[in-house]
Amino acid sequence: MTFRATCLTLFPEAFPGLLGISIVGNAREKGLWALETIDIRTFGLGKHRTVDDTPSGGGAGMVMRADVAAAAIDSLDQAGRPRLYLSPRGKPLTQDRVRELAAGPGVILLCGRFEGLDERVIEGRGLEEVSLGDFVLAGGEVAAQALLEACVRLLPGVAGNAESIAQESFEGGLLEHPHYTRPQIWEGKEIPAVLTSGDHAKVAAWRRNQAEELTKARRPDLYAASRGPTASGSPNSVRTTPRDGKT
Ligand code: SAH
Repeated sequence: MTFRATCLTLFPEAFPGLLGISIVGNAREKGLWALETIDIRTFGLGKHRTVDDTPSGGGAGMVMRADVAAAAIDSLDQAGRPRLYLSPRGKPLTQDRVRELAAGPGVILLCGRFEGLDERVIEGRGLEEVSLGDFVLAGGEVAAQALLEACVRLLPGVAGNAESIAQESFEGGLLEHPHYTRPQIWEGKEIPAVLTSGDHAKVAAWRRNQAEELTKARRPDLYAASRGPTASGSPNSVRTTPRDGKT
């Protein structure tokens, strides 16, 4: 089954953009995923193909019209694919959500511009709002490409090395351990000796420990979550007794 992505945008020339290069671009050429770009302006109104209007209630900027956006969405063969609206108000995108999306038939992505989209089409077409992070872009195109890049690299046959995906950041609920490569000494700094010891068990233990320490220091939120809901014991331990009595 080919993963099908449809991007609705006012800037179709922005695609495939970064989705045309490297492993993601190669995968598209191999037919491992398909990209369709729809120009929202095609559904614009009147001679000028108008897609936006002034905000009700006043204020700066313009708002994308609900009728125009809905016409663009309704023109698609949606085939059970989730409809996402890239938006700074959305739920921040996570690797878990990326994994879920990549396991499905594909996605429909609506890229906003201006001040955003008329609220009624978000509700009326059941758009899931997804954010790239707590900052504001000028449009949804970069966010759509980021989301697709994250999904496509997980599709079977896309990444050269499946093991590298299994071990990277977020997969075990932790950030990844540091990496090193030759030269052995660079600006007086050596590669940690354990990594050149040839002892695979020691290497694995060192990496696990580094990943835990790094996550604890940089992302205490992730670290706490990786410890499981009991906040005590090992992450995968099954709690058979009530929480340690320290309640
Ligand atoms: N007025 C809006 C921002 C509009 S930015 C607000 O304050 O919430 C214009 C478009 O850029 C949005 O419609 C959205 O599609 C996209 N965009 C901006 N920031 C984004 C982010 N952090 N994640 C995903 N999409 C974003």
